[in-house]
This record gives sequence, structure tokens and C-alpha cells, in this order.
Amino acid sequence: MKRILAKQAIKRVGEEVKLAGWVNTKRKMGKIIFIDLRDASGIIQLVFLPESNKEIESVLESVKPEYVIEVQGKVNSRPKSQINPNLETGGVEVEVKDCKIISSSFTPPFTIDNEIIPAREELRMEYRYLDLRHKRMKDNLKARYELIKNIREFLDSKNFIEIETPCLTKGTPEGAREYIIPSRIYPGKFYVLPQAPQQFKQLLMIAGFERYFQIARCFRDEDTRGDRQPEFTQVDLEVSFLEEDEILDLIEEMIVKSIKAVYGDKKKIKTPFPRLKASDVLKKYKTDKPDLRKDKNDPNELAFVWIKEFPLFEYSETEKKIVATHNPFTMPFQEDLPLLDKDPLKVRAHQYDLVCNGFEVGGGALRIYNPELQKKVFTILGLKEEEIDSKFGRFLKAFDYGAPPHGGIALGLDRLVMILQNEPNIREVIAFPKTADGRDLMLGAPDKIPPSQIKEAHIKIDLKES
Ligand code: ASP
Repeated sequence: MKRILAKQAIKRVGEEVKLAGWVNTKRKMGKIIFIDLRDASGIIQLVFLPESNKEIESVLESVKPEYVIEVQGKVNSRPKSQINPNLETGGVEVEVKDCKIISSSFTPPFTIDNEIIPAREELRMEYRYLDLRHKRMKDNLKARYELIKNIREFLDSKNFIEIETPCLTKGTPEGAREYIIPSRIYPGKFYVLPQAPQQFKQLLMIAGFERYFQIARCFRDEDTRGDRQPEFTQVDLEVSFLEEDEILDLIEEMIVKSIKAVYGDKKKIKTPFPRLKASDVLKKYKTDKPDLRKDKNDPNELAFVWIKEFPLFEYSETEKKIVATHNPFTMPFQEDLPLLDKDPLKVRAHQYDLVCNGFEVGGGALRIYNPELQKKVFTILGLKEEEIDSKFGRFLKAFDYGAPPHGGIALGLDRLVMILQNEPNIREVIAFPKTADGRDLMLGAPDKIPPSQIKEAHIKIDLKES
């Protein structure tokens, strides 16, 4: 007999079926044994009347939570009084006729039989594969998947194509430190992991694709601050020949349609999203991430807002120099170009952030497509001619071969799903996140590597300074 899923049993009343999955809970009432069986589709109640078969009774007696079992039995409708409205399969139960244990299980370090997760987060991370058995975690990852699927479909319908860009690459500045990968074949040389696919997506525009997107993994080696992850996912996209407002319209439509496709009418989204100037927002709300919800206790209210017209540069007190507010590729306002030499901190940029409920969920910009202007911006950022050449020379070369006007955005997928699922942090919506201090407690990373590998990578470990 072919195994079916718990959910499919709803439509098989009166039939013999085969089910397999994990023992969620087991309880005895008088002589009757009840087991809640869990599989990828949900939970279903199994019942066993001990008198019916001694052999099966002893198997069921030995079964414990998280054992994997396979059962055959008959699907019965439950009497009205016993219907469980909290369970999708609550109208039926399966009367067990045969049962075998497929895998036994140690007692898990925390309970899995309900949605509440009382365990310490470090323990949950160490046993993430058990933590992911919780319904809440499964629901989070399913919602994430559904959102990505709908974003993909939307972008496909608008003639975008998804293109993968490399992870072993050269640095691209997005304001964080880079992860470095020593090259074995080229001693003393390094790849870096991308902070974002920024230069690649711009080069794809120069290549003439006009509409690119990618569900992109990005890597940033930041000191552990706030709710961040060393690797995270962006919905990264870039378009050619669109004005700033046209890009914002497109993203807005994508967000509203995708959320509606996943959550139906449950989520309340006010449209159109307001488009506010960064300077006004700062003055009014004292932050550039204002929370514009009417009712902050309503878990379904989503108040998106565009913040635009950021200054192109800002003065960094820590670095004691002018830095790019977004990244150095952002297009200044045409009418502010004369200020580049006179008063660069006054130059406004075609940069926009998307904020939702007080969280930044995306940021993007129109880009510079004139190589001379790009060089000028690098110079204002304090880069010497040789530095521009070694860091960006090859990128800039492409702009001499016909660059279209272009711009784009990257949405922080983890943060967006966190807000949609009403979770307190992004670790709850990532299958295998790092801890807040950057460790993988399940597989144990970062870790030492054998001396032979260190030698092959042509590096020396010097722990004196740390
Ligand atoms: N690359 C930018 C970032 O990661 C996003 C963009 O400008 O499209 O923030």
C-alpha cells in the first residue's frame, strides 16, 4: 500500500490507509491508546483498542515521542462530540490495524508537541533539526517559501529573469567588513564573499538584460550588533531605463501582490505607500525608520513607507571622513552636481529605503552610469587614483562600452518574513541561522582547520593579538 499524508486522510473516510511519521504525543485513556502522529502535512490522531491485537499492543506500548512509526488502519469520522476544531484533520481518526517502529528516538532536550518553545535559544540552535519540528517553525519556513515563490512569479510576469552571480568574488563596498577566502592556487591572493551582488547586477545592466533579479545570499562580517546575521538573504533586483518613481511603483506592486497571495486579506496594508523625504522624516520622527502604524498592537497592520532623497554622503565620526550614505554607486541629483566640489555633504541622492513598521526592509538607488562622475565620487570618498584602479578599475572599464541608465533595490527577505510572521527576530525565520554572536551551534562553526589545510591556503595563524 502507498503511504499517504495525514492531511490526505481527511478525504479517505472508510478506507484502509498507510501513514508514517513521528509520534507527537501518546496517551492512554482507560485501555485505549491515542497517538498523535506528525508528518510534513500536520498531525492526525491514531486510536488503538488493545483487545484487538496483543502484538500491536506491545509495539504501541513501547513507542515514545519522536519515534518514527508506520501504521496501517481505517479512517473513521469522529463522533461530533470528539471533533477537534484546532486540528485540520480533527474530524477524523485512524483506527490502527498494524504498526511498526521504523526509528526510535532519545528523549528530546525540549518538548516538541506544541507550538510554544520554552527552551533556551542555545539549546534550540544546537538541536535545530528538532526545533524545526515545531509547527511554528514549519509555518515560518513555509510562509517564507510562499513569499519567495510569489515574488518570483510576479517578477517573471514583469519580464525579469533570475540570474545567479558568484559568491567567490572581489569586494563590493556596502559598509561592512568582508569575509575573505584564501586562494590555494594563487598564494597570497584572496576571494571575498559578496556583501551584495551590487557590481554584478550593474554589469548585467550594461550587458543589456534590463531586468534582473536574484534571491541572493549576502555576507557581511559585522561586529555582532542588533538583530543581524553574518549571512542573510536579499531579494536583489535591477532595471534599466526606469525613473525612480517607476521603480518604487513596481516594488510596491510586487510587495502588495505577493503578501496578498500568501496571507489573503488578513494583512492590512495601506496603499499607496507614502513617499517621504529623508530630511522631513528625520525632523518629524527623529529617526529615518518611522513606525507609521495606527495601532501598534495589531499584528496584521503593515505600514510601509518609502524614505527618499537621502544625502549622497555623510561624515563618519568613527572613520573621521566622508563616506557614502548608501553605496558609492548612487546617482546624485542632477541639480546638485555643482555642489559635489563645493559642499558634498549637501548633495542629495536618488536613494530610497523601504521601511515597514519601523524596520528597514529594503534599500536601493538609481546608479551613476557616467564613468567620469563615478570616478569623481570615489575621489570625494578619499580614494586615490591607484586605489580606484585596483578596486574598481575593471568595473569602471565596462562603463566605457555603453551603460544604460539603471537602478534597483535589495529587500531584506529575512526581516520582511519576520514582520509578516510576527516573530521577534530574524533567526526565527531562517532554517539554520547563526546565533546572535555568529556561531553555528549545530554543526560547530567557526572551527579550527587542520594544519595541512592552513598550509595549503598559504596562511599563518597568529593568535597573539586576539
Ligand atoms: N546593494 C545594495 C545593498 O545591499 C542594494 C541596492 O542598492 O540595490 O544594500
